[in-house]
This record gives sequence, structure tokens and C-alpha cells, in this order.
Amino acid sequence: MSEEVQTKPAGPVQDLKDMATLVSLSKQRGFVFPSSEIYGGIGSTWDYGPLGVELKRNMKETWWRSMCDREDIEGLDAAILMHPKVWEASGHVAGFVDPMVDCKTCKGRFRADKLDSSPCGQKPSKNAGAGGACELTEPRNFNLMFKTHMGPLEETGSVVYLRPETAQGIYVNFLNVAQSSRQKVPFGIAQIGKAFRNEITPGNFIFRTREFEQMEMQFFVKPGTDMEWFEKWKADRIQWHYDNGIRKEKLRFHAHAGADLAHYAKAAFDIEYEFPIGWSELEGIHNRTDFDLGRHQEFSGKNLLYFDESTKEKYIPYIVETSVGCDRAVLAALCDSYRFDGDRTWLQMHPKLSPYKVAVFPLMKKPELTEYSDKLYADLKKHFRVTSDVSGSIGKRYRRQDEIGTPFGVTIDFDTLTNHSVTLRHRDTMEQTRIPAEKLIHVIRDQIENWGK
Ligand code: ATP
Repeated sequence: MSEEVQTKPAGPVQDLKDMATLVSLSKQRGFVFPSSEIYGGIGSTWDYGPLGVELKRNMKETWWRSMCDREDIEGLDAAILMHPKVWEASGHVAGFVDPMVDCKTCKGRFRADKLDSSPCGQKPSKNAGAGGACELTEPRNFNLMFKTHMGPLEETGSVVYLRPETAQGIYVNFLNVAQSSRQKVPFGIAQIGKAFRNEITPGNFIFRTREFEQMEMQFFVKPGTDMEWFEKWKADRIQWHYDNGIRKEKLRFHAHAGADLAHYAKAAFDIEYEFPIGWSELEGIHNRTDFDLGRHQEFSGKNLLYFDESTKEKYIPYIVETSVGCDRAVLAALCDSYRFDGDRTWLQMHPKLSPYKVAVFPLMKKPELTEYSDKLYADLKKHFRVTSDVSGSIGKRYRRQDEIGTPFGVTIDFDTLTNHSVTLRHRDTMEQTRIPAEKLIHVIRDQIENWGK
């Protein structure tokens, strides 16, 4: 193999230092683009490019399988637009507000509780209200729900909201799912879908956006068994992040207590990840008691009691909720996997998340090599998501794949034509092994399945 190929780290291996590095890599390589960029962008929405969409689909798939492969969880895909009374019952119309202040000078709008991290619009080196040009109004409550109108008339009676969370679609379908799937409490309903919040201070790339995707699972349990299930789900959910290859030392629980604890919650924990912006919420696990179904029963006037056939009891189930933002999980996967050794950049992510699992390279653009490589590519493609790259030196091609997290590279050279062996290169160690081409599928599959074990 040619000499230019790097085989050991150029220097000490570093983690991601700042979000700007990731924003730039994401744009260049096609993970995430600023939305409507040719028009100057629109506040805090992002578009997933060819690689980002694959990474996101992989993230959703691992979540969906971890939930819906269980016998006691069913899936759901509820509409984004719901009856406006849903949001009265849920408390979002009255309570989904952040106190905010406007600045009369720089015209900025800031969260009253986040002034110390909000730069003044005119003097960005100062924070709003702290030596900048800001002249702030008194805090006012600002509802985070996006409001729109259903039908042709923009009148009060036609107001609907874009859902600010997917959970309510699950609660209002609780009996539909229980009856149609013949599930008995305890059981759960899982859903992945878009949610919208008119956040006052969005930012930090895809960490906080106004349109995002949630992966939520609501588990319905008999009152009295709720804390046991809560503890179980807490353990299961952090394990899911570990299984995605996120480093254990970068994840922790944060307990909600006192004023932090929502009025309806009996217990709540966040799973936090240490992003370059510091420890921040990645997922919430909440014991929501019978608040949600109780409220929907009250506001809809429909009986939402569950009849337990085994004990002949009737009750409103308690709900243990697990709610993770898909975009935040993608951000955590990107942040956690980023590595730089002073020369080479690679994404050391779990292969199940990588957009491509294998890259196939003919050593040179010679017809006999490309022909062999095309055939191998077609064979591998039946089993994995594969890419191929024929342009530039082999070292450059390895680098391009490292940077997008492709875990395996397969190189075809002149020896391959005679002995049918190929070079299998590993992204993280740069280790290269020569193996028979016919064993590739088996070896790659085995290494993906046993990754990190
Ligand atoms: P935060 O405190 O960060 O505003 P939250 O406590 O309001 O979040 P939840 O309502 O519990 O969040 O939502 C569950 C999950 O949805 C969060 O853990 C997060 O991963 C994701 N999420 C919430 N708001 C946003 C947003 N604006 N952008 C991206 N993801 C979000």
C-alpha cells in the first residue's frame, strides 16, 4: 500500500472543543445545513443533508427498535394538529410560558432567567442588562406554542396550535391503543414526531431549535407501582445511550427537585450530556402520575378509566414518561464521536449510527481494479449501506471517510485480482488487515454486532 497512508496518530487525540468546528464540518460534509441559507437563513432551523438524514434515521431506528421490539410497547403516529382543547387540558395554553424581557434600545428579546448568557444586540461583548446598551422592559409571559388557523377564516374559533410535544397525541389515544392491541396495564406507547416551540433563546446549533423531533414513550402503570417502573425506565434509558456508544463519563443524571419539579410530576430526572456548551439536558424521565389522563377525562368529559380485568379494579393509570430529542441525540453522537489528532479528523461513532458502514476503494483507477471493486460494492450493498470513492490518493480517500464516521474501508489492489484478498481498514485504529474477500460480509457484520464489547 502507498506510503502516504497514515497508520498511527499524528499527536495526542483531542475531543471536540467548540460547536463552531462541528457546525463547519456538518455543513461541508452534508450532515446539517442552515435552513433557507440562500435567503440568509431563518432563526434556528436547520436542514439535514444527505449524511445527516441517514444518521438521524439510524438514531430513530435504534430508539424505535429498543421500544417497539418489546412485547409491552406499541407504536403510534398521531397528527401534529390536535383539537385546541388538548392544550387547555395539558396546561400548555395557561402555563407553557417563559418570562421574557424586551430591550427598547437593541430591540432584542431575552429570557428573563437567561440574561447572563444573552449578548446585547448592539454590544455583543456585554450581556443584556449588564453594561450593554440594553434598556429592558419588565418581564412578560410569552407562550411558546406556535399558533395558526384551521380552514380559510382567521377567526378566534379556528385557532389551532402546532404541537409543542408529541406526548399529548399518546394520552388521547390511550384507550384506542389499549383496546385495539389488547394490551393490559402495564404497557407503553412510543412515538417519534416533530414538535414546535417558539423558543425565545434558541441556539447552539441543533441543541435548541424551534422545530425539532422528539422520541417519546409513555408507559401506563397501576398507581402504587409507578416508582418501581420509574426506576426501571431510568436505568433502561441511560443504558440506551451507552449502547449507542456515548461515553459513560459524558452522561449523568440530574434530579429535579423543589421549584424545578413540574407541578404534576412526582419525580423527574434528566439525562444530561456534557456538550461543548457544558452539561445540558438530553432526555427527561418523568413520573407524571394520573395528571394527564385525569385532565383529559375532565376536559373531554369522556371516561378514561382503565378496567383491570384481573383485579376487577377501575383506575386512571399513572404515566412514566421518557422523552428524548432526536436532534439532541444526534448532536450528542456527533460531539461525542469527534476526534482530532492534530492532523486527522474522524468520527468515532458506533457503526449502527454511521451513515455508511463500509467504503470500497480500488487502489487506482485501472479498469481491472474498478471492475472488481464495482462487483464487491454491489455484493456488500445487499447487506450494508456502502459508498465507494475512486478519486484522489488512497490516503485522502481514507480521510474523507474517517471524517464522516465510516467504520470500515475495503481496498482492492493488484494482489486482489490474483488471490481474492482485500485490505480491511479500521477507522478508529487505522489498523489494516488482509482478509479473503469472501469473508468480508461475515467479518464486518460480526465486528458491528460486537462493537465495544
Ligand atoms: P429545555 O429545558 O432544554 O428547554 P425541556 O425540559 O423543556 O427542555 P422537555 O419538554 O422535557 O424539555 O422535552 C423533552 C426533550 O425534548 C428534551 O430533553 C430535549 O431533548 C428535547 N427538546 C426540548 N426542547 C427542544 C428544542 N427547542 N430543541 C431541540 N430539542 C428539544
